[in-house]
Amino acid sequence: MTYSPVTETHGLVGNRSFQVLAKPTGALCNLDCDYCFYLEKRTIYPGSDFRMSETVLESFLTEIIESHSDGDVSIAWQGGEPTLMGLSFFAHAVARAEKLARPGQRIEHLLQTNGTLLDERWGAFLKQHDFLVGISIDGPEFIHNSHRKDKRGGPSFSKTMRGLEILRKHDVRYNVLCAVSSTNVDYPTEVYRFLRDECEARYLQFVPIVVTGPGRTISHVSVTAESWGSFLSEIFDIWFRHDVGNIFVQIFESALAAWLGLANPMCIFAETCGRNLALEHTGDLYSCDHFVDQEHRLGNILSETMASMVETPRQLEFGESKRTLLATECRYCPMLFACQGECPRNRLTLTATGERISYLCAGYKSFFLAADGPMRMLAQLIRAGRVADELYTLLSKMDPTIMCPCGSGIALAQCHRPH
Ligand code: SF4
Ligand code: SF4
Repeated sequence: MTYSPVTETHGLVGNRSFQVLAKPTGALCNLDCDYCFYLEKRTIYPGSDFRMSETVLESFLTEIIESHSDGDVSIAWQGGEPTLMGLSFFAHAVARAEKLARPGQRIEHLLQTNGTLLDERWGAFLKQHDFLVGISIDGPEFIHNSHRKDKRGGPSFSKTMRGLEILRKHDVRYNVLCAVSSTNVDYPTEVYRFLRDECEARYLQFVPIVVTGPGRTISHVSVTAESWGSFLSEIFDIWFRHDVGNIFVQIFESALAAWLGLANPMCIFAETCGRNLALEHTGDLYSCDHFVDQEHRLGNILSETMASMVETPRQLEFGESKRTLLATECRYCPMLFACQGECPRNRLTLTATGERISYLCAGYKSFFLAADGPMRMLAQLIRAGRVADELYTLLSKMDPTIMCPCGSGIALAQCHRPH
C-alpha cells in the first residue's frame, strides 16, 4: 500500500520483520467493482456482522506495537472498505495505539480507501493523526466508472473525487492506487497525466488486474501480458523524461532498488515472500491478502501470536516456494534480478516443460528490458551520491552529440536530452 521511494531516500529502503493488512470490515464494501477479488471472501464468514471487535482490535494493536519495540510502527487498514467501520472505530484505534506505544515510538496509520465515504470530519481526523491515505482511482471519469461501480451498478467517480478533494483540502498525505484493467491499460498516457496533474498525486501505484474464472480461465477485465508491458513502458518513458525525483511510481522505485542491488521493497519482486499477512475482522490471520482461504489460514490472533504464526513451517514454506517453484525459464531469464518470477498468484501459464510461470511474464520482461538503460543511469547517479533529480541537470550539460548514456546507441540529442 505504501512505499519508500528509492529516488527519494537515496537508496535506503526500510526493512520490517512482517507486515499486516488489517481488515476491520473484512470483505464488506459499499462498492462493487467488477474486478474485485476480495468481495467473495464474505462467504468465508456467513452470518458475520463484518465488524472487528474490541477484543480483536486490542490484541492486534498490542502485538503489532510490541513486535516493533525497537522502532516505529506502521499500521495498515484495508478492506473491503475500512471507512465503513465509522470514524469512532478509528478514533478509538488511534488512541489505543498511542497508549500502547513505548516512549518515543512513532505510530503511523495507513488507510486504503475508495474515498467515497470521506467527509469533512474524516478529513480533519486524518490530518490530525497524520494518516497516510491510499485512494483508489483508475483514471479519468469514463475509465474509472467503467469498472468501479456502486452496489446498483452506478458510477463512483464523483464520490471518489469528492473524497480526494477532502484529503487535499485538509492537507492529508495521500497516494493513488490505480487498478489497471483491460480498459485503462490502453490509455497509459491519459491515466498517468490524470493522476499526476488532475489528482496531483506524487505517489502512484499501478496494480495489474488478473482475474481468473473456472478452470483458471482469464476474465475479460484482466490485462494481457503485452498490454501490461506496453502500459508500464509508456508511463516509464514519460516519467523518466520529466518526473524523476518529483513523482514516485512504486514499480519504478522497486525496479531501481533491483538495479541498485538492494532488497526489493515490493514482495512480488522479492526472491521470497510470506511476510505480508492479512488479518480478517475475526482475528483470523492468513498467509497473504491474495490467499485468504481455508488452506492459508494460519490461526487466530486471540489464541496465537502473529509472530509465531509467521514463523510456522507452513508459512515459511509458503514464502520460500516463491523461489523454490521458480520455472526454469525464470532461472535463466536476464531480468530475474528485477522480477523474481513475480507473484505466485499470477503463475497461471504452463511452460513447454509443464512448469508454472507468470501470466504477465512477457509484459514484465519487455518493461524491464526497456527500462534497463535508464535504470542503469539512475543507479549510477545514486551510487555516486547524487540525488535522482540531478539527472536532468547533468543530461542538459552534456554534449548532445555524444551517445546517450542510457545505452540506446542513439545520440543524446535524439534520446534523453531534456528539452
Ligand atoms: S503471494 Fe504475492 S502478494 Fe502475496 S506475499 Fe507473495 S508475492 Fe506478495
Ligand atoms: S520476466 Fe518472465 S521469465 Fe523473467 S523472471 Fe519474470 S516471469 Fe520469469
